[in-house]
Amino acid sequence: MRIDALSIFPEFYDVLDLSLIGRAQRDGLVEIVRHQLRDFTDDKHRTVDDTPVGGGAGMVMKPEPWARALEHVLETAGSAVEGSGDGSRPPVLIIPSPAGEVFTQRTAEELAGAEHLVFAAGRYEGIDQRVAEWAGEHFEVRPMSIGDYVLNGGEVAVIAMVEAITRLLPGVIGNPESLTEESHADGLLEYPVYTKPAVWRGRGVPEILLSGDHARIAEHRRAEQLRRTRRERPDLYARHLVAEEQAGRAVR
Ligand code: SAM
Repeated sequence: MRIDALSIFPEFYDVLDLSLIGRAQRDGLVEIVRHQLRDFTDDKHRTVDDTPVGGGAGMVMKPEPWARALEHVLETAGSAVEGSGDGSRPPVLIIPSPAGEVFTQRTAEELAGAEHLVFAAGRYEGIDQRVAEWAGEHFEVRPMSIGDYVLNGGEVAVIAMVEAITRLLPGVIGNPESLTEESHADGLLEYPVYTKPAVWRGRGVPEILLSGDHARIAEHRRAEQLRRTRRERPDLYARHLVAEEQAGRAVR
């Protein structure tokens, strides 16, 4: 997979060189190319923003530097990425925005199948709307929110999405089973986890986990998943009940 990440603060993306995603890059499982948006300006102040047309607070990111930067990505990535530039599937352009579709584990799974992802992190009041419209001629454009709150810029959202997507690529996580047993993999939250010692500061782990009886442990964990999801995320639990009913399974 190739990822191009654009920003006026590309240094934010340096954290992607750490830990598992850093190793995945060094192992050639993913290539993350960073771009400084100001390199695509043409004035001596390297200006990327201007006042909003129609008035209002704050500044808006100018369209031309974004168009040039995205054209540069298409030119440089075209030959490097299979399926890019040959008309088979356009690269996916993800524009972080609190007004976008909410990014979920399902989105991460879907995007983990793409060859080429491009992330355009906005600042100020966001990017001139015409950039997304224009980009639709060259990319599959996906405005994406990482939750119902407002950040100062898109970089932290990009880092969160890149991490959620790339950890699903084959070979990135040592034990692939940990991907199937975790929260959101099956629409439920994960069961509580414990390590040794069996008693810590007077608190024991659930006895059943020490029994060695794998079938009963699996049953206990499933019950804990359901209990935790019902308590912490009634919205997910309600969705789970509907899915179980539709599948004709007994609801517990
Ligand atoms: N004026 C915009 C609005 O009300 O929708 C908010 C702009 S915000 C201050 C600046 C940038 O931060 C956005 O362009 C976007 O890139 C990023 N951002 C802020 N909150 C986000 C969120 N919840 N998810 C994804 N990106 C976000």
